[in-house]
Amino acid sequence: MSRSAHPAGPRHADVLPEGHYAAPAADLNALDPKVWAHTVGRDADGVVTVGGIAVTQLAEEYGTPAYILDEADFRDRARAWRTAFGADADVFYAGKAFLSRAVVRWLDEEGLNLDVCSGGELATALSAGMPAERIAFHGNNKSPQEIERAVRAGVGRIVLDSFQEIVRVAHIAQSLGKRQRVQIRITVGVEAHTHEFIATAHEDQKFGIPLADGQAAEAVRRALQLDGLEVIGIHSHIGSQIFDMSGFEVAAHRVVGLLKDIRDEHGVELPEIDLGGGLGIAYTSDDDPREPHEIAKALTEIVTRECEGARLRTPRISVEPGRAIVGPTAFTLYEVGTVKPLDGLRTYVSVDGGMSDNIRTALYDAEYSVALVSRTSDAEPMLVRVVGKHCESGDIVVKDAFLPGDLAPGDLIAVPATGAYCRSMASNYNHVLRPPVVSVRDGAARVVVRRETEEDLLRLDVG
Ligand SMILES: *Cc1c(COP(=O)(O)O)cnc(C)c1O
Repeated sequence: MSRSAHPAGPRHADVLPEGHYAAPAADLNALDPKVWAHTVGRDADGVVTVGGIAVTQLAEEYGTPAYILDEADFRDRARAWRTAFGADADVFYAGKAFLSRAVVRWLDEEGLNLDVCSGGELATALSAGMPAERIAFHGNNKSPQEIERAVRAGVGRIVLDSFQEIVRVAHIAQSLGKRQRVQIRITVGVEAHTHEFIATAHEDQKFGIPLADGQAAEAVRRALQLDGLEVIGIHSHIGSQIFDMSGFEVAAHRVVGLLKDIRDEHGVELPEIDLGGGLGIAYTSDDDPREPHEIAKALTEIVTRECEGARLRTPRISVEPGRAIVGPTAFTLYEVGTVKPLDGLRTYVSVDGGMSDNIRTALYDAEYSVALVSRTSDAEPMLVRVVGKHCESGDIVVKDAFLPGDLAPGDLIAVPATGAYCRSMASNYNHVLRPPVVSVRDGAARVVVRRETEEDLLRLDVG
């Protein structure tokens, strides 16, 4: 759901009513620290730098498009979450937002745990040395092979998502002579997006076991009877890009209600509750996300209060931020290829990537901002749409933005806050090669995921 004041925008070059767009930022050369990684700034020549390196140098060395990841910022944000929640809680980074071996090592060093939701993500985590007991395995349709691999590796928890999976995991664990620690993922009938939440949402989705009709209670009843499982808690994940904490309040109330029912029926107090991820970030200057310490304080207070009301010991809390850690730490660096003014409408700016490196605009109508980064300009602002090079008119990276009117082919522009769900959702559409992820820190850059090559493409095509 878009939080924008204007209606879910037209995807093509429609004529738009007067005043449809926000006025351009006063200074197009300014870089709002809310949407850019921490070490981003401009040097004396007006060139944007990150981690002490000019983007012009990065473009020359690594080519464009490229995802540029600020390692210091990533570590800062990871540490801020860790510190905010403290020793009595766990922070699991949601690997699906962006996962690479470098990121796994940073997380390990900063004391975070890791969520994976496929065999591929599990393999990446293990190959980078993340201790298995700090990995949680998610997914609504884990294959028996994936489950076996996770159990053998000794993952700290598997989050069970269906009645069939309860039996499947129990059986596999038992056949391996193990007792697997599990959480049960429930849907509490809360749906949260950005600024609004629905407390009475239908549980009409593929994830989790509905609290309604006693299904979640029945799942716990069955799981508690199986020797292959050690039930350690209940899991709830309510949405994405959330700014409003009230959805968590309702979710926690309902999860704690279930914990109380479990205590009353079985005489056990489950020791953990996981409130999932979904915390929002600033994609544009209009977004005002909360700081990790505010989120930690709010969630801890909510759970503590609910447990006191239910006369339960407060369980260990865990959270699973993905976007909120990696999202703001990277930007996508593009070179402008063509600039096509359409009289009375807008100017189409084509870049050397597009929906293959950022599908979120096409998929979710997501909003992004953009800036000219290879120089400054005092030219008049022009209304632009930043589009890619794909054979698809919905191939839009930034729907509505302002860039300087003297923008020209060869200029470098960058789209901030592309750290989450861009490289991880990237495709080879039109056989376009997926961009590299280049991490920068203290004046040094290194490739953490290299650019795809034509050989990579042709290697899969066995003729
Ligand atoms: C997607 C997901 C997350 C992470 O969501 P973000 O919006 O990136 O914070 C966490 N937990 C679960 C179960 C998820 O499905």
